[in-house]
Amino acid sequence: MDKDKKLTRLGILVCLGGLAILCIAFTFFYYSKPLYQAESGSLRKMGTVAHITVIAADKQTAQRCLDAAIKQIDTIENLFSYFKPDSEISAINQHAADSPVRVSPQVYQLIKKSIQFSKLTSGAFDITVGPLVDLWHNAGDANTPPTDEQLQSARALVGCDKLILDDANSTVRFAVSGMRLDLGGIAKGYGIDTAIEAIKNNGALGGIVVIGGDLRCFGTPPHNNKHWLIGLQNPNLDSPNQTILTLKLNDTAVTTSGDYRRFATINGRHFSHIVNPLTGRSAQGLASDTIITPLAADADAISTAVNVLGPEKGLALIKTLPHTEAILISPAPAYKLSKTPGIDLLIN
Ligand code: AMP
Ligand code: MG
Repeated sequence: MDKDKKLTRLGILVCLGGLAILCIAFTFFYYSKPLYQAESGSLRKMGTVAHITVIAADKQTAQRCLDAAIKQIDTIENLFSYFKPDSEISAINQHAADSPVRVSPQVYQLIKKSIQFSKLTSGAFDITVGPLVDLWHNAGDANTPPTDEQLQSARALVGCDKLILDDANSTVRFAVSGMRLDLGGIAKGYGIDTAIEAIKNNGALGGIVVIGGDLRCFGTPPHNNKHWLIGLQNPNLDSPNQTILTLKLNDTAVTTSGDYRRFATINGRHFSHIVNPLTGRSAQGLASDTIITPLAADADAISTAVNVLGPEKGLALIKTLPHTEAILISPAPAYKLSKTPGIDLLIN
């Protein structure tokens, strides 16, 4: 009997030992196996250039993740575009002054989130800015600044308080005829968030989605790096494409708003595509501001708002927000850089 017991114990020990060796071998094999990196190259998405990188254990998974992310961005662009006549935002802009327009849950939720950001930023972020954005766009084309009367009439059409929402039916209605929603300040970030979810759900180990000046990264970075390395571009157009600092990031979003990529030139003067909803004027307080916070939709809305608020009010807002850091660069000719204290931990 004793001999049998000893043999059984020995058998169990041998099995456990074998299992441990197998686990170690598997772990070693798994982590030493080269990871596959899939690149989208430059894509034209949401009115700007997009780029996606996926890190996965095999080529098929990486490609599946890449395809899912691109499909997701296309879906969001088709829902939220200001310019596509068959987007849900265009349906709202065409009909919401006459009757309530029913929208999909995604569109309804992002409009609600945008209204929360309006409240949080004391009206600096406002998706009803459509008439003002159009006014400045047309002023650029005509090379003539808008008159005070034009600014005043456009401003009368702006304000989230003039949006009538019905939660039970997911409908949107305008209180004033001529209003127009423009989600250009938050939709890119939202598109990035949903693309990252698609990449994660399809089994990637890491990835980054960049659309224009907005991005979000997660998981394993490329080239055995510990962090995703994100260069911050100099907003001074005399030094195009110059990197002023490099951020070392993991699992976060970064968005930059500024007047150096998209602007109108009127009589040789530079006017930002971001407008102050309260004054109707084009934002002038900052050459650029970069926001780092977990979700890209949040970062996107906050960076647009901070660009309107300017350095003092902008930094005061950032201080009230959890897990949020910022880098602000003052307008030309000074281009003075200021940052929240947490930024130092991300650049050393
Ligand atoms: P971003 O590049 O994310 O800062 O967004 C700028 C875009 O947001 C502009 O091209 C407009 O479509 C829109 N926009 C401009 N001013 C505002 C504002 N004050 N609040 C919300 N969206 C805005
Ligand atoms: Mg934005």
